[in-house]
Amino acid sequence: MSVCLGCLKQIENKVYCNACQRNVFNGKSPTLYLKKSEFQSIRYQKIDHFSISGVQDKISLKLSGKDLISTTGEGEYILKPVPSINVEQLQFDVPANEHLTMQIAKQIFKIQTAENALINFQDGESAYITKRFDRYDGHKIHQEDFCQIGGISPETNGPNFKYESSYHEMGEIIKKHCVAPKIEIEKLYKLVLFNYMFGNGDAHQKNFSLIETINGDFVLSPAYDLLNTNIHFPEESRMALDLLKHFETEHYKINAFYGFEDFMKLGEFYGIKSNRNKKMILEFPAQREKVEKLISRSFLSQEGRKKYLEIFLDRLKAMIE
Ligand SMILES: [Zn+2]
Repeated sequence: MSVCLGCLKQIENKVYCNACQRNVFNGKSPTLYLKKSEFQSIRYQKIDHFSISGVQDKISLKLSGKDLISTTGEGEYILKPVPSINVEQLQFDVPANEHLTMQIAKQIFKIQTAENALINFQDGESAYITKRFDRYDGHKIHQEDFCQIGGISPETNGPNFKYESSYHEMGEIIKKHCVAPKIEIEKLYKLVLFNYMFGNGDAHQKNFSLIETINGDFVLSPAYDLLNTNIHFPEESRMALDLLKHFETEHYKINAFYGFEDFMKLGEFYGIKSNRNKKMILEFPAQREKVEKLISRSFLSQEGRKKYLEIFLDRLKAMIE
């Protein structure tokens, strides 16, 4: 028996189960034609000529037959291996962390996510791979992140532009741009709550997007870049943005971290009915056992699993009514 590198279910003598092959790799059982050392050199070739901040630990891939190969175009996949810089703790757990967090979101909390899996380099180390969702039959689908929609850039708002604004204000953007704002704002709410519960302290405005449907409407895009950053940066703040705009609840004034009351308030500002809001919050303690099981099947190190679970349990405590 082995574990599917896509959904983490037990399978026999295969790398990916049939469903993951179909959903992530167009039905193929892919081979990644790269060594980790080759990844580094490709990454440096692609650095933007005038910006060292363009260095990112990811490259584009495309399927050629059953081979995944590096591409200079935008590609069908993004490959993110163990990052080489700027991780304080558990650096080698980064790909498994992103994979686990995306799978918990999809499988347990039914959040629509980008398709994703782990994949092994030729020399063994695993990387996180995700399929782009802004492509359909070779065409590009119109997508804008919340910075683009809000007209926020380093030129207008300085180097911290991604972290300005609040989740509250992101809800206002949805109300303004979506045809069915009630549905989309609930999706945003659930995702913001999920990020809090799973220690994602880097869910900034570029990590949320609106995408155009075939009818020409805009909806919240599938979730991407979900990861428990708190296990790597224990000192960072719990959330990338303020939850509420110019407003602090009694709970926040006393504790200096968000809890049940703060999320109920955000839901109220979003226009979500309070019983519905409460139900969405209570889903997290209700799914605790499933979360623990998926963490235990993940590819995190022992210490990584322990810390990952600790953060989730700590957030559950913070969310007690
Ligand atoms: Zn699978």
